Amino acid sequence: MLMRIGGKDTEGIDTAWIDVKNPATRELIDRVPSGTKEDVVCAVDAAGVAFDTWAKKPTRDRGMILYHAAQKVRDQYKDLARLLTREQGKPMKESSDEVRGFANILEFYAGISAGQNGEAIRLGAAGDCIVVRQPLGICGAIIPWNMPVLIMGWKIGPALLAGNTMVLKPASSTPLTNLRLAQILEEAGLPPGVLNVVTGSGESVGTAIVKHPAVRKLSFTGDCATGYKIREMAGACLKDITLELGGSDPMIVMPDAEIDKAVEGALRGRFYNAGQTCTAVKRLYVHEKISTLFIQKLKARVDALTVGNGLGSKIDMGPMSSADQREKIVQMVEETRNSQKGTILTGGYKLKGTAYEQGFFYRPTLVTDVVPGSSLVTRELFGPVLPVMTVPDLDTAIREANNTRFGLGASIWTKELSTTKRVFDEVKAGIIWVNRHLTVPPEVPFGGINESGIGRENGHHALFSYSQTKTLYLGW
Ligand code: NAD
Repeated sequence: MLMRIGGKDTEGIDTAWIDVKNPATRELIDRVPSGTKEDVVCAVDAAGVAFDTWAKKPTRDRGMILYHAAQKVRDQYKDLARLLTREQGKPMKESSDEVRGFANILEFYAGISAGQNGEAIRLGAAGDCIVVRQPLGICGAIIPWNMPVLIMGWKIGPALLAGNTMVLKPASSTPLTNLRLAQILEEAGLPPGVLNVVTGSGESVGTAIVKHPAVRKLSFTGDCATGYKIREMAGACLKDITLELGGSDPMIVMPDAEIDKAVEGALRGRFYNAGQTCTAVKRLYVHEKISTLFIQKLKARVDALTVGNGLGSKIDMGPMSSADQREKIVQMVEETRNSQKGTILTGGYKLKGTAYEQGFFYRPTLVTDVVPGSSLVTRELFGPVLPVMTVPDLDTAIREANNTRFGLGASIWTKELSTTKRVFDEVKAGIIWVNRHLTVPPEVPFGGINESGIGRENGHHALFSYSQTKTLYLGW
């Protein structure tokens, strides 16, 4: 597939290409241009030309285009989900949910488009003020490979509704569904140049978007280390910035929790998307009164998970997204095994055999008796491995939950209101779930504190972050 710049399929100035391969089979699916700084300049120019007309359209008209695009996405969700599974690896059910999640986001923003009001401030003898919100201009979006469709929706939904235009860079390994979605948006009436997709590496295309002086806001989702670099580059030219970075979400299970429900929550919370989700359950703290039973039940469910090519039927978990991602997990588990900082209760190995040989498969893994300070709990564990720690009381659980540099999400599993209140008040995170984990609806602000990032996506909060106020002061 080609890049999408100014409403046209574009080859790119360089003649280099990036192969996109299925992580389950390493089969070549397609290739995309390896974009350059010059391609980013063309895309920013196209976004600049499109901006004036797009920004002047009534918000409601912009919303209707998003709405029509959502309907087209729903009509084609099976094809889109198949493309996503082929390039990213996740099972078809998860891809289908993600594609429909993209449509939900566009529909949410379309739905609030007619109610975008400003405010009036009366100052008595000093006059009156009318405050309106206006778009920021050209925005840049840089997204990762783990949830490429959903995260594209989180960025384009509010940015385009607010009247901005955008240059988006997909991850190098998962650009195809993003490119197809950009085409669908145009088929639904999005004018050329409003959304431009430039494919290529982070170092060339990503950096060029961040440094381009005409890009006034940058929204990045990805690794913390990349986030730090981007913040530094963007700060040099005073850009507005949203950073959605890593997480190490704790899940706390108290003795009064519904055990079976909590077991299912942990299973989905950790192994969804082969564990490659920012808000996955990455550390589980279970009260000692129920830990033996809980771990026994969880192990039985983990052992029953079917791993395989996401295109197959009845597959619970696909491959990891790349050899590098799997290698990071292998190293962390082996280090734990060798240093005896935890007990590998089940899993802990790469899957072998004909069905697995070409793909980046890893057996879902549970590690118990994890020693505090082990890298399994101090680093972001971005794969299908769940460290489970037994705790004597809620105080210890809260203290350990907060023993992290991240602060994205956390969950508490209990029927007690007072326990819920303590966790809500004391655990440091952007979202606290009660008796669930991982759900991220488009209406609800999403984002973390500390090293999990800056700013919020979704809801009205994201819409505000893609706009700024302008005041008309009436002296009368
Ligand atoms: P990554 O930082 O390696 O890559 C993300 C994107 O940034 C890619 O498009 C990449 O090409 C680009 N990039 C890389 N270096 C760059 C540079 N120097 N300048 C500009 N762009 C650059 O992250 P990843 O491995 O693709 O994603 C996994 C990470 O994303 C995990 O840490 C995960 O927790 C995080 N994540 C966070 C959220 C959230 O909303 N908080 C959601 C999903 C994923």
